[in-house]
Amino acid sequence: MSGAKFLTDFTKGLSKGDGPKSLIPTSVRSASHNLAMCWEIDDWSRWRQTAKEIKQYTLANLDNLLVQFEQQLESKGIKVIWAEDADEANREILKIVQKYDAHLAVKGKSMVSEEIELNHFLSEHGVESLETDLGEFIVQLDGTRPSHIVTPALHLSAAEIGDLFERKLGERNSAGHEELTQIARRQLREKFVNADIGFSGVNFGVAETGTLCLCENEGNIGLSTSSPKVHIAMMGIEKLVPRLDDLPLFLNMLPRMGTGQKLTSYVHFINGPAEGTELYLVLIDNNRTRALADVEFRGILRCIRCGLCMNNCPVFRHVGGWAYGWVYPGPLGAVLVPQLLGIKTAWELPFACTLCGACGSICPVKIDLNHLILHQRRRAIESKTHAKKLTDTIMWSTFALIATNKFLFSSAMFFVKLGIKIAPFLPIKFGKLKAWMDGRDLP
Ligand code: SF4
Repeated sequence: MSGAKFLTDFTKGLSKGDGPKSLIPTSVRSASHNLAMCWEIDDWSRWRQTAKEIKQYTLANLDNLLVQFEQQLESKGIKVIWAEDADEANREILKIVQKYDAHLAVKGKSMVSEEIELNHFLSEHGVESLETDLGEFIVQLDGTRPSHIVTPALHLSAAEIGDLFERKLGERNSAGHEELTQIARRQLREKFVNADIGFSGVNFGVAETGTLCLCENEGNIGLSTSSPKVHIAMMGIEKLVPRLDDLPLFLNMLPRMGTGQKLTSYVHFINGPAEGTELYLVLIDNNRTRALADVEFRGILRCIRCGLCMNNCPVFRHVGGWAYGWVYPGPLGAVLVPQLLGIKTAWELPFACTLCGACGSICPVKIDLNHLILHQRRRAIESKTHAKKLTDTIMWSTFALIATNKFLFSSAMFFVKLGIKIAPFLPIKFGKLKAWMDGRDLP
């Protein structure tokens, strides 16, 4: 059966259910183009419920499903490596890279590889790992980090990217989208041809068949996984679905929520290495089993990384992804990061939230994000990491004094605005603050 027919048959098979429009307030519906792609599906709420149930089943049976997955993968000639944490994942990947004496790798977009800081680790060991997703390519060139899990260069305008390409690649300055894309394409083609290793993430692993499913729009994942002789895929252990029949639902949902498309331009089903090539899958835990054991927060592992919760978050939309300080920003990060890093390390994240509920009301796998954020706050307070520090007391008392006095507030704003204007000319390095100030003005 062709992939397209498979997907169409599946979605037809979901009968009409309760209408979706009652689920989400109008203000949230109008907040994102992506949601419009969901309203055209009559039984969207049923899709969400089914997706939730499939992922819940997966998490409840993860031990058995992972064993089944591994057996299927190995029967197809895919070598499986288990990594307990980021350090182990990086070391195992480096071993493979060194085994093939590789020095250049091309990499498709993968959030778990951001999580383990693979590029940084490899560059310390003399291996160039080049991002090939356009957005990732741009942020790597800029020496920064993705500001969004789906659209990594969301914070940059076309003009800024044109400046970057001129500065770093010596290309003609342009703000034309097509021209910028052509520049990236030209730069990357040669790397695809010469790369020794291809890296990728995995959107969904199918336990029943040992299939690796990868979704993309640019064709770079297809090239990264097929051009080099060795392909190393990386996958968080929760990215499983039990059966092949479960996939079409997620393949229809993910692009609708993530990029406002009915389907991504390409969907790859990898069922083993091509002749003369090697395929490895690194299954990464990195505290996911700890999150799984935590019944109160286990639901966050249902996440399919569509990014919609951050698109709809009023805080994320104002502060941007970098402000959260780690790979997963927005409402997802406010719940997941404390689970992965520990509440003592990431206690501040749940407080970067208005508890408006816009995130939880649209999550395709029905993660109750706003309530989980509230519970993370409780944990932060219980763990005493949120105890007031003297610096906090001084800072907030000063802020209260200024904010409640009209003269002091106006004066402060005058000096802040003046500071922002003259900051670029001062011989001081502002680091990340400079990037933030470059793109913002105070009202
Ligand atoms: S938490 Fe839900 S809305 Fe947010 S990225 Fe994950 S699946 Fe998407």
